[in-house]
Parts: sequence; structure tokens; C-alpha cells
Amino acid sequence: MGFNYLVSCLTLLLFSQPLMANDSSLMAEIKLHPVIFLVSITLIIIVLATMTRTLQLLRSRGHKQFRQLKRERNKTQTNLAIIDKHILLVNTDQTGKVTKVSSAFCEQTGYSREQLKTGTLQCLLTEKNSALVLQQRYQEARQKGFVSVETQEKNAYGGLYWVKLQIEPQYDGNGNLIGYTEIREDISTQKKLEELWMTDQLTGLFNRSRLDELFDAELRRANRYGTHFSILLLDIDHFKQINDTQGHLVGDDVLYAAAKLLQENIRDVDILGRWGGEEFLFILPNTNQSEALILAEKLRNTLRDHPFTPVNKLTASIGISSFTAGVDADELFKRADDALYRAKAKGRDRVELGMVSIPNPNEQNRDRSA
Ligand code: GH3
Ligand code: MG
Ligand code: MG
Repeated sequence: MGFNYLVSCLTLLLFSQPLMANDSSLMAEIKLHPVIFLVSITLIIIVLATMTRTLQLLRSRGHKQFRQLKRERNKTQTNLAIIDKHILLVNTDQTGKVTKVSSAFCEQTGYSREQLKTGTLQCLLTEKNSALVLQQRYQEARQKGFVSVETQEKNAYGGLYWVKLQIEPQYDGNGNLIGYTEIREDISTQKKLEELWMTDQLTGLFNRSRLDELFDAELRRANRYGTHFSILLLDIDHFKQINDTQGHLVGDDVLYAAAKLLQENIRDVDILGRWGGEEFLFILPNTNQSEALILAEKLRNTLRDHPFTPVNKLTASIGISSFTAGVDADELFKRADDALYRAKAKGRDRVELGMVSIPNPNEQNRDRSA
């Protein structure tokens, strides 16, 4: 209100003084029409006051919007800082060359921003053909719109960590590819727990729970796709004697060394686990009975010929069982267990084949007549 009043007074002064001082004819005319003069002045005052008010309003609204924008900007900056600090974020151009990385990513990988920005993320990959693997990921991201993989990476110091990696291609307004956004989540702890859950602590082989899962999976695959596989059940002979004569710790060492030796003598695709005590289970994909027999004999000889100091000689007995259509896991395992029992009964250090159990014809007849 005060400001309006001031404007009004100034306006009166500005208009009235020159009029009175310099233009007496106009003054005379104004004197002739005082009402018109007053109305004009009033109108001018009203217009000026309205303009001033409008300016004030616009200014305060502008201020409000400015403050809001500032608040929004601060909020965005805070969010970006949080992302930068905690999210493993990378932007690349369309060729995969790094353009932007978060601080969290630098910390995780041990590389500086400058180092990472000199090329692609190939330096993190553990695979031999890393460039190809990287290009395949980007290709898949383009085709599917999104890629999600769990993979192991290596940092600048050669240390390994597990990440869940998600890649999304970025396009400009015209649909041209401009690069990729990659987000990683460190899942090393989760992987470690998974590993602990599925690993036998003494030998480092799969434990029984994991073997159960893998056995079921192999059986489902064989039933569904008509593939075949075999299992071996291997039991070290007279192992109790080793404990009794050499002590439990030597027994542990022998178990560890035997496990390592067995693992070294099978294919990558074969699965080996500790079934319990001094018993090991092998799951051999795409292996029929005669092939399983060859491997079992090789393993038996390898164990017998290996020097397990201070133990003089270590032998094992092995039972074999091969998949036949319609058989369930229990039956398949029972055949291997029975074969192992026979190998023990026949003097140990032997391999025996599991037999397909043939239904008892007498019982079948009894069932029919019932
Ligand atoms: P067989 O030829 O009939 O298989 O005789 P064995 O002595 O090997 O079999 P038995 O079942 O009588 O004994 C198995 C022994 O394995 C007894 C047990 O103390 C030992 N054993 C099982 N697990 C471990 C282990 O983790 N460490 C050690 N040191 N010994 C173990
Ligand atoms: Mg045993
Ligand atoms: Mg034994």
C-alpha cells in the first residue's frame, strides 16, 4: 500500500510541476476543465498502481518458482550424489567405450575415472575372449532391450567379485543408438553363502544337498530329452583303519587328497560330490554304462597307484548305475549302492555294475489275481 501511495505522489509531482511552470495555456485549459484533469490524473494513478501491483505479484511469483526450482535442484543433486556414492553405474557410447562412471563403481573396481574412460569395460572381464563376450552382451541388450547376467569380474588388483549386471541400450529421439547404461549389484556375499551352503567344508566338493539337486536335474533332463547318464558311488576301503592307526587328522588329509585326485581325473561336465564320510558320488552326463565302467576303472587304478603319504596304499570300491527310461532317483541310486555292496563283498578294490531291477513275476501274478 505504502509503495502504491508513493508512486501516486511521484506521478502527481512529475505531471503537475512542468505543467504549472512551463505551459500556462495548458494550465489555463486544465483550469477550465478541472474535472477532466482530476479524472485523468486518477486514471493514471490507478493504471500505475495496478502495473506496480502486477509487477510485485509477478516478482513474488517468480521468486516462489525460483525457490521451488532451487529446492528441486537441490533434491536432484542429493539423489544424484546418493546414486554416485552407492550405485555401480556406468554409461558407455554405442561402441562400449566408457563415458561416465559413478564413484561407487570406481571404488568397487579399484580403477580411477580417468583410467576407466580410456576404453571399454573389458579390463573387468575374467573370460579369455573378453572383447567378444562384451560385444555379445551389448548385442543381446539391443535385441531384447535389456540384459541381466550374474557374472564374476576382476578388479584392478586382480581380486574377484560377483555382480548382477544389467545393461540397457539408450536411444536418442530419432531412435538412433547412443550408448548403454550398465548397473551392477555386488552379490559376492550372496554367492559366498550359496557356495557355503552347497560345498563340503573338508574337501571343497559339492555336498549332499547340492548333489541331490544336481541328481534330480540330470534325471529330469534325461527323462525329458531322452539323453542318458550314469552315476558312480565310490567308497574308500578300510578307511576306519587309517583313522585308527594314523589318527583322524591324517584321515582328513587323505580324504582331501583323494577328493582332489578324483576331481582332477574327470571331465569338466562331470559332477563330483562327497556323499558322506568316505563315500563320493559322481554324476556323469551323456555317459552310458560301458563308458562309466571305463572311467570307474581308471579312477580305481589312479587311487590305488597314488602315494597318499603316510598311508601306504589306498583302494576304493565302486558301484555303477546307468539311467534307463522311467527310473526314479531312489531306484537309480539303489542300483549303484547294491553294486557297491557287491564290490565290497567280493573283496574290495573292485568295480561292479548295477543291475536293472526286474519285477518279481510271482508278485506280478499275485497282483493280477488279487
Ligand atoms: P569299508 O571298506 O567296508 O568301507 O570299510 P571302512 O572302514 O571304510 O568303512 P566304515 O564304514 O567301517 O568306516 C568309515 C570310516 O570313515 C569311519 C569314519 O570315522 C571315517 N570317516 C568318515 N568321515 C570322516 C572324516 O570326515 N574324516 C575322517 N578322518 N574320517 C572320517
Ligand atoms: Mg562308507
Ligand atoms: Mg569305506
